[in-house]
Amino acid sequence: MTETNLLQGKKGVVLGVANKRSIAWAISKGMSDAGAELAFTYQNEKLKGRVEDLVSTLPAECSLFPCDVTDDEQVAALGEGLSRDFGSIDFLVHCLAFASREDLERGFSQTSREGYLLAQEVSSYSLTAVSRMAAPLMKDGGSIQTLTYLGSERAVKNYNVMGVAKAALESSVRYLAADLGEKGIRVNAISAGPINTLAARGISGFTDILGQVAERAPLKRNVETEEVAGASVFLASDLSSGITGEVIYVDCGYNIVGL
Ligand code: NAP
Repeated sequence: MTETNLLQGKKGVVLGVANKRSIAWAISKGMSDAGAELAFTYQNEKLKGRVEDLVSTLPAECSLFPCDVTDDEQVAALGEGLSRDFGSIDFLVHCLAFASREDLERGFSQTSREGYLLAQEVSSYSLTAVSRMAAPLMKDGGSIQTLTYLGSERAVKNYNVMGVAKAALESSVRYLAADLGEKGIRVNAISAGPINTLAARGISGFTDILGQVAERAPLKRNVETEEVAGASVFLASDLSSGITGEVIYVDCGYNIVGL
C-alpha cells in the first residue's frame, strides 16, 4: 500500500522487530517497498536468528546489530556500526516497550518500584538514549519516530505502568523535538490502535479491548499494521518535513469518541 520511491535514497534503522506480527516488521516492509535502505536490531543472541530470517525476505541486503536498549555500550556500538555501514542515516524507528506481566494484570497501586523503573527505562528513556546516538548520524536532518498508545492519557484497564511510561515517552517526543529541531531532526510518535502482537498479548484482557474498539471507533474496525506502516513511511519522507513533536493517531478514530 506504500508508494514506491517515496524513500528512495534514504537510509534508516528499525528497532523492535520480534516476529512477523510486530508493528516494526510492517513498518520495515513499508519502508523497504518505498525504496529505503534498512538496518535492524535484535535484543539478544537468542533472538538474532528470528530477526535474520525475517530480514532475509526483504529484497535488499540489510545490516543487523545487537541492541538491548538498557545497555549503553550496545547503543553506542549500534551508532558505530551504522556510521561504518551507512555513513549517515535519515530515520530511526523506535518500536519497543516492556513491562513485567504482573504489572499489566493487577491494580496500578500495586506497581513495585522495580517494575515502574523497568517500564520507564525500556519503554521511555530508551528513546532519549537512541536519539542521542542517532542525532550525529543525521547529517542532513532526519526523522525519529516512536510508537505509543492511548493508555498514556486515559486510564485503560490493565495498561497501568505502561500507560505512565507512554506518557513519559510522549513528553520525551516533545522535548527531543525542541532540542533537535535546529539540526533539522524531527521527532514524532504514532499512537496506534490495539493490534494483536506479542507485546499486546501480555496485557490482561487485550482481546476485550480489540472488540470494544471495533464496536466504538468511527471506522467500526481495528487498525491494520500496514496502516501504521503508512503513517511511518509518511513521517520518514519529505512529505512530512513540517511536522515535529506530534503524536499522530492511527487508530480508526477511536481517540476522538466520547459517548
Ligand atoms: P512486539 O512485536 O512484541 O515488539 C516489542 C519489541 O520490543 C520486541 O521486538 C522486543 O524485543 C522489544 N524489546 C523489549 N525489550 C527490549 C530491550 N530491552 N531492548 C531492545 N528491544 C526490546 O510488539 P508491538 O506491539 O509491535 O510493539 C511495538 C511498539 O508498539 C511498542 O512500543 C508498543 O508499546 C507499541 N504499541 C503497540 C500497540 C499494540 O496494540 N500492539 C498499540 C500501540 C502501540 P524481543 O521480543 O526480542 O524481546
